[in-house]
Amino acid sequence: MLFFLLFCLPVATALAGVRLEVPERAGLGQPFLARLVSDAPFVTPEVRWLDREVRPTVKAQSGLLVSEILLGTDVLEDRPGVREVTATVQQDGKMLTLRGRVAIEAKAYPTQALTLPPKMVTPPQAELARIAQEQEETRRIKDLASLRQFWTLPLARPVSGAIESVYGAARVLNGQARNPHRGLDFDAQAGEPVRACATGTVVLVAEQYYAGKCVFVDHGNGVVSMYFHLSEVGVRQGYRVDRGEVLGKVGATGRATGPHLHFAVSAQGRLVDPGPLLEE
Ligand SMILES: [Zn+2]
Repeated sequence: MLFFLLFCLPVATALAGVRLEVPERAGLGQPFLARLVSDAPFVTPEVRWLDREVRPTVKAQSGLLVSEILLGTDVLEDRPGVREVTATVQQDGKMLTLRGRVAIEAKAYPTQALTLPPKMVTPPQAELARIAQEQEETRRIKDLASLRQFWTLPLARPVSGAIESVYGAARVLNGQARNPHRGLDFDAQAGEPVRACATGTVVLVAEQYYAGKCVFVDHGNGVVSMYFHLSEVGVRQGYRVDRGEVLGKVGATGRATGPHLHFAVSAQGRLVDPGPLLEE
C-alpha cells in the first residue's frame, strides 16, 4: 500500500491520516479556503469557524480525499486577531480533532463619497419596520449551510463590466459616515444579463428597500451569492441554476445611483470580499 501511495500520488510522501490546511494569515474581510486532506477515507467532517459550524462535502481529488471550506471575516462585524479553525472527522472508527490558526489582519480599504436621494441615506420612519424585516430575511439566508457543495472556484463573473466600487470601501453618503460596502459594484448597462456565479438553488427572490429587486443563490456548505438592484428577475425561489445561467437583468432598483450590479458573497454567515474568488 505504501508503495502504491508513494508512486501514484502527486505528493512526495504518504500522508499520516487526515490533515487540516489553513493559511497563516488573511486580511479582515477577505475569504480563504480551509482544506481537509487525507489519503484514507474519512467521514462526518465538521469544521468550526468563529460562531459557525459547517459539514463540508468530501471529494476525491488527484487520488486524495479533500473537503474545501470557504471561510472568511466580515469587514463590518469582525475584528483582527488570531482565530482558530477546528475540524472533527472520523477515520478508522476514531474521532479526530484538528486545529489550525489564522491571523486576521487589519486591511486598508478606500473611502468613497456618494450623493444619494436623502430618503436612501436616512430612510423615512414608515419604512423602518420593512427594512428591519428585510435585514432579518437576509440574515436567515446568509445563515444557510446546506449539505451539498455546488460551488467551485473561481466563481464566474456575474456581468462582464468592470468593478466600479470594491468591497470594504468606507462609505460617506451625503456627508454622513455609513457602513462599509460589503460587495462589489459592477459597471453594467441596464438590461444586461446577470449570471449565477456558481451552480446552486435560488433561495430568495425579493424586492427590498435597499437591494431593490434581488436574487439570493445558495451554493451549499455555507456559501450564498446575492445580486441586487435588478430591473427584472427571471428565476423563482426553488429553481436550480447552473454556473453562468441568467438570473435577471441589470437595473437601478433600491438604493442605486444608476444601473449597476451589486454582487455579494456570504461565507459561513459573513459577507466577504468576492473579488479574490472571481475568475479573471
Ligand atoms: Zn454596492
